[in-house]
Amino acid sequence: MTTESELELVSLTKRYGETLAVDAIDHKFPAGSYSCLLGPSGCGKSSTLRMIAGHEVVSSGDIVLGRANITDLPPAKRGTAMMFQSYALFPHLSSAENVAFSLKMRGQPKAARLKRAMELLELVDMTQYAGRLPGQLSGGQQQRVALARALITSPAILLLDEPLSALDPFLRLRMRLELKRLQRELGISFIHVTHSQDEALALADGIIVMNGGRIEQAGTPQQVFDAPETEFVARFIGGHNVMKRDGGAIAVRADRIAVTRQGAPGAAQLEAVVRDVEYLGTTVNLALSAGGAGDITATLADSIFFKAPIEIGETVFLSWSPADAHPLAA
Ligand code: ADP
Ligand code: MG
Repeated sequence: MTTESELELVSLTKRYGETLAVDAIDHKFPAGSYSCLLGPSGCGKSSTLRMIAGHEVVSSGDIVLGRANITDLPPAKRGTAMMFQSYALFPHLSSAENVAFSLKMRGQPKAARLKRAMELLELVDMTQYAGRLPGQLSGGQQQRVALARALITSPAILLLDEPLSALDPFLRLRMRLELKRLQRELGISFIHVTHSQDEALALADGIIVMNGGRIEQAGTPQQVFDAPETEFVARFIGGHNVMKRDGGAIAVRADRIAVTRQGAPGAAQLEAVVRDVEYLGTTVNLALSAGGAGDITATLADSIFFKAPIEIGETVFLSWSPADAHPLAA
C-alpha cells in the first residue's frame, strides 16, 4: 500500500437494529486530498468515518483502499488512522510517550519509537513540550499531540471526527490552518467530519454533503456553495434563497440579488418590502418579504448599500442574472 492510494466506498451501508444510519453510499476520495463529510447531526457522518477506520462493523458494501479491500481488516492493518479527541490522551504518559504509544503496541524498540515520536512532535511544532504530561498542556497543544499520535503509523488516510469542535473560536481558526498545512506537507488524504459549513468550505478539496444517511451532493467547495443541486444543500450551505418557481424550485445566492428602488422595465424582477436591515461590517443583509415568493435575503456590499441606504418599510425591486438561478432537484 502506498500513500498514493485512492479510497473508494462502494454501496457502504450501516444499520443499527432498525436504524439505517448510512444508506448504500458510493464515493471516491482521490489520493492526497482533503475531504470533508458535512451534514447535520445524525446524518451518518461518524458512522461512515468509523467504518472507514475499522471501528464499526460494515452492514454491507465495501471499502477499497488502492487495490486492497479493507472492509473487514482490523484498524491497525488498514493503512488508516483516526485522530481521537485530545481528552483521549493517556494522562500519565508524556507527550512523547503518548505519540510513541502505537509503535510500542507494534513491538518497536524504545529508542526507535521515541526517535520517531520526536519527529512527529516536530512536525506539529511541539518539540519543546515532549516531556510534559497532557494535564500540563493547553487544549490546542493537546490537540497537536493527538494529531502526532495519529500520524505516527504513517497512514495513507487520516480520519478526523469534528477535530475542532472542542476548541475556542480563535484556536479553531489556527488549528484549521494547521490541519490544511499538515495535509499538504504530508501529501496523504485527510477525511474530516464536520457540521460546520465554514470549516468545510475553508479546508476541503472535496465536500460530501450528507443527509439522512445519503450523499446529497459531492463536489468542490465552489460547486457545492455556488451551485447547490438540492434544496437541502442550498439551505444547509447557507447564503442562498430557495424560491418556488414554475412548479419547481431555484436557489439564488443572497449576494447575487440586486436591489433597486425603481423597477427596470422588461427585466425579470420581484417586488418586495424591506422587513429588516442588518449591518455586518463588510456587508449589509436585507430581510425582505416578496409576496408569494416568500422571504428573501439580499446581501449587499457595504459600499453599495451606503450609496443609497434602504430603510425598513420601503418597497424595492429584486433582480438577478438568469445564470445565478440554480434549478433544484425535487
Ligand atoms: P453524525 O455523526 O452525522 O451525527 P452518526 O453516524 O453518529 O451521525 O449517527 C447516524 C444515526 O445512527 C443516528 O440516527 C444515530 O442515532 C444512529 N447511531 C449512531 N451510533 C449508534 C449506535 N452505536 N447504536 C445505535 N444507533 C446509532
Ligand atoms: Mg458524529
